[in-house]
Amino acid sequence: MALMITDECINCDVCEPECPNDAIYAGELIYEIHPDRCTECVGHFDEPQCVQICPVACIPKDPAHPEDRETLYQKYLRLQAAG
Ligand code: SF4
Ligand code: SF4
Repeated sequence: MALMITDECINCDVCEPECPNDAIYAGELIYEIHPDRCTECVGHFDEPQCVQICPVACIPKDPAHPEDRETLYQKYLRLQAAG
């Protein structure tokens, strides 16, 4: 699944530069994750980097975007090919 950021986000800015897919961006009120770019860090790291670094643990899996590991890996390959 892609991950999502909940309204507990305190806009601390630390997750955005950690994302290897440039999936995190500053939304209108809080940071948000672009589901087409989030691979749960599959292809880059063993663990989601944003989840590791978020001080308030507000980045759960997004139930609106169910994807298995193979699907996430295929997304990673597409993103790599697109540059
Ligand atoms: Fe980016 Fe990885 Fe977090 Fe997804 S899990 S938003 S790819 S840092
Ligand atoms: Fe929000 Fe967590 Fe990212 Fe900080 S690390 S901006 S609290 S989602």
